[in-house]
Amino acid sequence: MSFLEYAPAPESQAILNLRDSYGLFIDGEFREGHGTPFASISPATEKHIATIAHADASDVDAAVAAARRAYDRTWSRMSGADRGKCLFRIARLVQERSRELAVAESLDNGKPIKESRDVDVPLVAAWFFYYAGWADKLDHVGLGAAPAPLGVAAQVIPWNFPLLMLAWKIAPALAAGNTVVLKPAETTSLTALLFAEIVQQADLPPGVVNIITGAGETGAALVGHGDVDKVAFTGSTSVGRAIARSVAGTNKKLTLELGGKAANIVFDDAPIDQAIEGIVNGIFFNQGHVCCAGSRLLVQESIHDEVIDRLKTRLSTLRLGDPLDKNTDIGAINSAEQLQRIRELSDVGEAEGAERWTAACTIPENGFWYAPTIFTNVSTSHRIAREEIFGPVLSVLTFRTPTEAIAKANNTPYGLSAGIWTDKGSRILAVADKLRAGVVWANTFNRFDPSSPFGGYKESGYGREGGRHGIAAYLKTAAPTVALPSATARKTVSKGATK
Ligand code: NAP
Ligand code: MG
Repeated sequence: MSFLEYAPAPESQAILNLRDSYGLFIDGEFREGHGTPFASISPATEKHIATIAHADASDVDAAVAAARRAYDRTWSRMSGADRGKCLFRIARLVQERSRELAVAESLDNGKPIKESRDVDVPLVAAWFFYYAGWADKLDHVGLGAAPAPLGVAAQVIPWNFPLLMLAWKIAPALAAGNTVVLKPAETTSLTALLFAEIVQQADLPPGVVNIITGAGETGAALVGHGDVDKVAFTGSTSVGRAIARSVAGTNKKLTLELGGKAANIVFDDAPIDQAIEGIVNGIFFNQGHVCCAGSRLLVQESIHDEVIDRLKTRLSTLRLGDPLDKNTDIGAINSAEQLQRIRELSDVGEAEGAERWTAACTIPENGFWYAPTIFTNVSTSHRIAREEIFGPVLSVLTFRTPTEAIAKANNTPYGLSAGIWTDKGSRILAVADKLRAGVVWANTFNRFDPSSPFGGYKESGYGREGGRHGIAAYLKTAAPTVALPSATARKTVSKGATK
């Protein structure tokens, strides 16, 4: 059903000034890699964008050595206020170059320009502004007086929010006084390399930020490097497990942000119109390539048919197509491999007896696309209710009582996020309290703010990013200069304090 015809409204690419090829960014300069360069393509057209250098183990060594030198000689010696100035400069440059960054992100990743322009890039700037403010206030992070940075941070990020995940990693690390080596995902290196240009423009000391591109082996060499003090990873649970094994027994600190299978719970007293928008935003934002996506809709049985009817009507109005068109709601799937995985799991859903409904859309001839899809009659044992599909596919389950909703929501190996839709504030608090999820949204979904910690329970990983917790993950407590009081003495102190 189409209510209105939209004329094409493509965002111009004229603002992009891309190079034909990009080197590795090490010690403040771009240089050739020793691996075989690879191509970055647009997932919407499969057209070549640029050639990207491939870092081998010797390049990883060089990047870590540059980060170590910068840590020892400049960054860890600078005052917090001076480090903060550098981060403020980065934040302002991101704002200045925001249109260019949004166009590059949509071109390389396939996400709609309205999302990269209105969500990803503004949040990148917000993350740098927020952590710039922390740089001279580390005593107030909550770790006691004079906490110290860890040293060199190795950071590996996925392809779904390339520039935003970079900001989540780099901003707190630098504010705390660490230097970094970051590896973006192979399919989305472009905006990390534009960010490297911003680091040069912002006049950061060479080696404070190093960006090395390559595939999984480059990531493995980086996190396994002997001179790294901290590993921060966002990606799949399977790679997270492999990293946890490689880091075990070393002194490296580790944070893992992994997958999810969030329940979005709609009670019968929910404001239905808002809930429909929240369900759509929960699973179809960024083509469902969102670790905290509301991929399991738990709807109270009495309103199931009404919610599904309205949802189908709403999905029929979504526009799928050119990510650079300002009217596009659903962009391209990031890669052929990801498309294959979405197709496979959806076929499994149908074979297991769930009922598939797909919005009628015209699929472009080239590129990787998947139309918004809903599965009803899903049971908790179905694979589409348990495994992360990481695409625009919603699995719908029903419940009768709040207790059943909570039990079903928690019946997952993951625990990253959840949503609650109800008119009753008391129900929000009671249900949120029992959900085993790091983030619970009430009457909204997929909202992010730099001051709010984000992270998982169970197989969704450990550690938090964002807020005070996010910077604490990059700090250690300074070695005590006097012996800590004994346990008995501590008890006396606390008793004294309560008198
Ligand atoms: P992935 O395969 O785990 O890759 C993530 C990153 O790790 C990429 O840069 C990848 O490089 C690299 N990598 C692959 N193998 C590695 C290894 N053995 N050692 C070190 N690094 C390695 O995940 P993805 O397919 O890119 O992303 C999708 C997954 O990430 C989903 O499961 C999603 O839930 C999760 N995710 C979680 C969050 C969160 O905040 N919790 C956010 C976003 C995504 P290449 O891509 O170049 O191979
Ligand atoms: Mg690409």
